[in-house]
Amino acid sequence: MINIQELTVKEAHKKLLSKDITVEDLVGECLKNIKEKNQELNALLEVFDVKDDVKRAQDMIDSGKATAITGIPVVIKDNILYKGHISSSSSKILSNYKASYSSPVVQKLLEAGAVIVGRSNMDEFAMGSSTENSAYGVTKNPLDTTRVPGGSSGGSVSALVSGMCLFALGSDTGGSIRQPAAFCGVVGFKPTYGLVTRYGLYSMANSFDQIGPITKDSHDAKIINDFISFYDKNDATSIKEEIRQKNKNDKKVKKIGVPWGLVDIEGIDKETLENFKNNISLLEKEGYEIVPIDLPLAPYSLAVYYIIMPAEVSTNLSRFDGIRYGNRVSDKDLSGVYKKSRGEGFGKETIRRVMLGTYVLSHGYYDSYYKKAVNMKNAITKEFDDMFEKVDVIATPTTPSPAFKIGEKTSDPVEMYLSDVFTSTANISGIPAISVPTGKHSNGMPLDIHFSGRKYEDERLIDFCIDIEDKIK
Ligand code: GLN
Repeated sequence: MINIQELTVKEAHKKLLSKDITVEDLVGECLKNIKEKNQELNALLEVFDVKDDVKRAQDMIDSGKATAITGIPVVIKDNILYKGHISSSSSKILSNYKASYSSPVVQKLLEAGAVIVGRSNMDEFAMGSSTENSAYGVTKNPLDTTRVPGGSSGGSVSALVSGMCLFALGSDTGGSIRQPAAFCGVVGFKPTYGLVTRYGLYSMANSFDQIGPITKDSHDAKIINDFISFYDKNDATSIKEEIRQKNKNDKKVKKIGVPWGLVDIEGIDKETLENFKNNISLLEKEGYEIVPIDLPLAPYSLAVYYIIMPAEVSTNLSRFDGIRYGNRVSDKDLSGVYKKSRGEGFGKETIRRVMLGTYVLSHGYYDSYYKKAVNMKNAITKEFDDMFEKVDVIATPTTPSPAFKIGEKTSDPVEMYLSDVFTSTANISGIPAISVPTGKHSNGMPLDIHFSGRKYEDERLIDFCIDIEDKIK
């Protein structure tokens, strides 16, 4: 018997190699879960025909050519291109868009023998914290279907937790891998900006976007990250191999910085804060040095994010106009075609952000909003870089509250944006960050802890989490 919901990539790999199970068994189990649960959860928008992939993976295993992910079922977020398959970014405007090439990340998974079973629902163009902004309906949290799974990679996380795959890919621009991972009790990792290629990932805010793994534990995060982190000449911001090597650091993490001023904010859920404090005490007992730190600029990250992000969104989404890309709605003249295609193709949140972004980039406002925010981004980045001269990792909660109810925050966008208060710091400063589950709230929902690390020290950060995750569960 395979207990998919408990099974990690590492354990599945062992079972496949020892012929305890076949790829068909494993994938079959996921497909069964999809059949039973997807209608209610709405985690996947499409299930792919994987017969050939299953056979190919089994052949790799049988001929001794298996990698650590051969035969492992995976789900990819709907904003990552997979050649020949629809990739809609959960938007109506791209409902029939078939990818003409695959993201190198997808190619890498396929070459390694992973089986991509489907594409997952998300907030439209990755804008949201609850997966309620999809044009294809809300995704539910498998742990409590009256609650959101978080977002924007809510479909990926919901699929993983409900046993539709053994790991998933998400994308993280302000927290979209880490926040849903936290809401559903799994691990979500956002790599250093530039370590995972963005080629074949729809740009939301391209100076922040990163693809990353969503897994059951930190060890699996390490396995997947090893596959997807490589230099890619197609992405001008991809980090070259020499720089990756030069910045490797195998030293064990010793000092954990805690920015109490950032953590103890107004509105943080009481139990979330208590749980965080307990975890910090546990880590201290484990022998880590806890260093209270001051990051006076970090609390501005959220405000900076909500200026720069919409600015980039408004330019990146200009290509979806019904002429160059996207479904066209006809009208009597060209400007009517643009207006109708975009007006009918985009959802409310997307339109809100395009308008905000256009505003902050417009004449007269560029200097007072956009330019100021970029200066602030640079200052925050320096603040984090300097702090990592003094501590090895920085700890905060991932989210200020556990998973909220469906519909609870939809009428108040600012309240929704506050979900990113801790996570957006890592996108602003380009550093790696990870969310690890740590116990439960009295309402039954998982709680979490968030660690960020020095730029390029992704492996060191994940290794640290492997060391501690059992101790803080
Ligand atoms: N919740 C954030 C937002 O709405 C983050 C999105 C993301 O990381 N893609 O912008």
